[in-house]
Amino acid sequence: MNFSDTEIVNSILTEEGMEPVQEAENADVIFLNTCSIRENAETKVWNRLKEFRSLKKEKDDLTVGVLGCMAERIRDKIIDKEGLVDMVVGPDAYRDIPKLLSEVEDGRKAVNVLLSLEETYADIKPVRTTGNGVSAFVTIMRGCDNMCAFCVVPFTRGRERSRPMGSILDELKQLSEQGYKEVTLLGQNVNSYLDGDNDFTKLMYEASQVDPEMRIRFSSPHPKDFPEELLHVIAEQSNLCNYIHIPAQSGNNEVLERMRRPYTREQYLDLIDTMREIIPGVTLSTDIITGFCDETEEEHEDTMSLMAKVKYDLAYMFAYSERGRTLAQRKYEDNVPEEVKKRRLSEIIEQQMNIQEELNKKEIGKKHLVLAEGTSKRSDEQLCGRTDTNKMVVFDREDYNKGDYVEVVINDCTSATLMGEAIKKSSIEEFNSDMVTA
Ligand code: SAH
Ligand code: SF4
Repeated sequence: MNFSDTEIVNSILTEEGMEPVQEAENADVIFLNTCSIRENAETKVWNRLKEFRSLKKEKDDLTVGVLGCMAERIRDKIIDKEGLVDMVVGPDAYRDIPKLLSEVEDGRKAVNVLLSLEETYADIKPVRTTGNGVSAFVTIMRGCDNMCAFCVVPFTRGRERSRPMGSILDELKQLSEQGYKEVTLLGQNVNSYLDGDNDFTKLMYEASQVDPEMRIRFSSPHPKDFPEELLHVIAEQSNLCNYIHIPAQSGNNEVLERMRRPYTREQYLDLIDTMREIIPGVTLSTDIITGFCDETEEEHEDTMSLMAKVKYDLAYMFAYSERGRTLAQRKYEDNVPEEVKKRRLSEIIEQQMNIQEELNKKEIGKKHLVLAEGTSKRSDEQLCGRTDTNKMVVFDREDYNKGDYVEVVINDCTSATLMGEAIKKSSIEEFNSDMVTA
């Protein structure tokens, strides 16, 4: 989501006649787009700001601004702290950046961290300077009303609001015209997307119709209100990817209740069964927090067993990090010792790596349609890209290019990556009709 926000800010700055530079040393203005989700995200930002201190000493008129979630949370601290920062802009105030920049020019510190009930930046065309030119993020809603006990997002990003469907579809059309082949629709809880009568299922259907050769993904839905109808739409439309990120957070009912996640382990597992029934071969990923307040060893074991049962293709796993103003911070004690959190985290990571390796081994011999995203990290002679099911595949470059759909047969794997042999250039339509004939 920050990546997507940066592209909105790029657009606002470009309109002002500003241009991006590659090196911080050559910049007149540096913006850091920040995240507050966990303590270590904030620590990274402080470290970067300290790196910029020497640049500020060399160049008197260098402006340093902090954007995004951290801005709202600790604006006073940021402005005071050793004059590291001149400007603080919250996630709903990006349109105000040009005005704030002129305030800084006049020698003042400039701050706007007001949150909005309406702002969706619907009319701003994001300027995508940092992506791969093949896959793009499109924000469909902002803020969150869920108030999970551990989470700072409702405080830093404000109330939930949906961007009008027409402006989303227009952006998808433009992306398709610019040659993008994959779009991820973003929101903190996409299930509650609502624009008039248009809900998320309708939006996904309409998105699938924009360009049959453009893949559509989304993140994140909430298990509490996942619409079953959406599963049918995903199953029917070949460019809606057969991959769902569905955050569980914990496998224990008491922990889920303390987290204010209004579903049970049993309901969650039923949902997973339904997903697998309606979309055969769907892959799944999740988010897990270990060491939440009062988590016992048995409760941790329930998370282990949930993960072993579901067998996720991918999981984002975190040790609980207390955040200011959240319900957990006000009502509970952050009482699982750091070393216990770490141990539990490494247990779930180890189990997850084994599961991923086991699942990836089952892919060997199978054919996939891979969208080439770019050069592989390991070798210039290889390309990497994703399957419809979101698995990363590396294969020899030969004559294929970034942005091609390539039919690949998998012949090897690790827990994170599949390796394969390219057969031919293809398309979503061609690949599907080949599969039906086969
Ligand atoms: N809206 C998304 C989550 C966005 S935050 C959703 O509900 O799925 C991404 C992930 O960060 C969360 O799913 C959670 O696993 C993790 N997270 C959020 N707050 C956290 C905290 N205080 N400590 C550790 N992990 C946290
Ligand atoms: Fe945070 Fe919960 Fe909202 Fe996700 S749904 S952003 S975890 S409050």
